[in-house]
Amino acid sequence: MHSPRFAFCLSTLVVVGILVPTSALLAQSIHLHVDLTDAPRNIYHAKLSIPAKPGANTLVFPKWIPGNHRPSGPIAALTGIHMEAAGKPLVWRRDDVDMYAFHVDVPEGASSIDVSLDAITSNDSAGAGGPAASSNLLDLNWNAVVLYPQGAASDAVEFIASVKLPPGWRFGTALAAAHPADDEVEFAPVSLTTLVDSPLIAGKHFRRIELTTATDAPAHEMDLVADNEADLEMKPEDLAAYNKLVAETGALFGARHYRQYHFLYTLSDQVGGHGLEHHESNDSAAAERTLLDPDLHLLYADLLPHEFAHSWNGKYRRPAGLATPNYQEPMIGDLLWVYEGLTDYLGRLLAERSGLMSAEQYREALAATAASLDHRSGRTWRPLEDTARSVQTLRLLGPQWSNWRRSLDYYNEGELIWIEVDSIIREQTHGQRSLDDFCRRFHGGQSGPPKVVPYTFDDLVRALNEVAAYDWATLLRDRVGATSTHAPLGGIERDGWKLVYNDQPNAFARAAEKLWKFADFAYSLGFSVAKDATLIDVMVGSPAYQSGLGPNMKLIAVNGRKWTPAVLHAAIKAAQGTTAPIDLLVENAQFFQTYSISYHEGDRNPHLERVSGHSDVLSVLLTPLTR
Ligand SMILES: [Zn+2]
Repeated sequence: MHSPRFAFCLSTLVVVGILVPTSALLAQSIHLHVDLTDAPRNIYHAKLSIPAKPGANTLVFPKWIPGNHRPSGPIAALTGIHMEAAGKPLVWRRDDVDMYAFHVDVPEGASSIDVSLDAITSNDSAGAGGPAASSNLLDLNWNAVVLYPQGAASDAVEFIASVKLPPGWRFGTALAAAHPADDEVEFAPVSLTTLVDSPLIAGKHFRRIELTTATDAPAHEMDLVADNEADLEMKPEDLAAYNKLVAETGALFGARHYRQYHFLYTLSDQVGGHGLEHHESNDSAAAERTLLDPDLHLLYADLLPHEFAHSWNGKYRRPAGLATPNYQEPMIGDLLWVYEGLTDYLGRLLAERSGLMSAEQYREALAATAASLDHRSGRTWRPLEDTARSVQTLRLLGPQWSNWRRSLDYYNEGELIWIEVDSIIREQTHGQRSLDDFCRRFHGGQSGPPKVVPYTFDDLVRALNEVAAYDWATLLRDRVGATSTHAPLGGIERDGWKLVYNDQPNAFARAAEKLWKFADFAYSLGFSVAKDATLIDVMVGSPAYQSGLGPNMKLIAVNGRKWTPAVLHAAIKAAQGTTAPIDLLVENAQFFQTYSISYHEGDRNPHLERVSGHSDVLSVLLTPLTR
């Protein structure tokens, strides 16, 4: 899963003693047909034939969705449920407590339950909340259209799936197509695990790009869909960068845990803003002009590298609490600062090493991350680990007071922690080793088809100690388990750089402000404000906070003049070095009030600056591993 900035293990199978024996389920496959021809109005129609024995049966709808790390299975979107056996309707009943379970009695003589159901997809875009389809393209996450026997391990349930596409649409997926025929496609039998792990995108405007890889590596391809044909135009330098990305991951990890890999890439302003990782593909969606617009290109530069890195960190190596045997078992997110945090670190690093962003852009993005976390007032009450453990409650919330509540900080604070870990490894080994060596040891191993190797905190510490001896347990427990007043910036400083603020815009933040239509005064007055003048968030402890301002209030005027970003910047500049307050006229739910802010330090935008006399280790870190 990509941060909104802007297969299973033996041990788990043993713990969960209620699982239906594998042999009992593999005898017969579940047949699933999904009619996607209504995708433009965001409803998918599915038919399932589920082998069943006479008597009481319970079917379940996937609840805990991998990559979402939370009970986000779109149960409210499941509609039109009809069940029958041997041609006769069955009466189903939802469980009183578990909204994802359906009880049904199968009569003597019947051997399967035939189910028809619809998935409303206007609010189901791989966990991001937007629609899954537009007039021109669709994203099919199979978990939205399946039921399976309660208690079954997803590895043990076999599906034979097929789809009917809107006429003329083409598709991409990591699933092997057994019988493609015009708009009907049947796929080779797979486990439920593989099915849910293999989404399908399709569209009227489609492009397949084979990426070049070493002869001994599996095939990699990009499958792109867009609302406009012109948005599929990939520049030669981007194609070269994505080819290099594949090479860089090979050099970094030393092994690949997939049979072939698909970058499923949607370019749309209607369906978008998500990135969901899988073993053999990633389902990512960016704004429609991302390949064409330099600002969008910068903001989304690490999207595909992030989701690709998850094939190793997250899918292959997975925290034990997230390696569950099926989609009804609760997930435990306490190690998401590794699953997502290390991937955030790797995603941006691989984007830079591949040439999707420059070293200067990397430093500007890192400075923006570091500043934002250093101003998270909530870090004084909430340890980072609690943001990971609370993933169930923290996604898709509004921005109001988010600096005090904290958000999904395990993503980007994870990046700072892993930069620090890298810097310590380099220091301890006198530059002989780095976090790259850890990745090769921890995520490499033997190449082959997808598998899951779970790990615990102790496994992680052990693996780090094999790379460089250090008290990793104490360091990491302190970083994730303790409250603090400042972000962990030690890695950046050890690497020869420091976080500074000046009146020059941060390139990454400026792109974000322009595209997402807001103005950021977080490090000066202490708030960000949307284009419609609504205060998005007010930083606790900031000058704006001290004056009484709060989120959702509307900024009307600055020192008596109608508010615009330029007027406010000018007022901040005029107040610099004086004692005169900045007066803001604000509307708070129909009532107007003027707030006087005492602030005289000018615009403050974050950047990284070299520490003189200190070697530039960050540039070493950013050096590609391949030529
Ligand atoms: Zn992720």
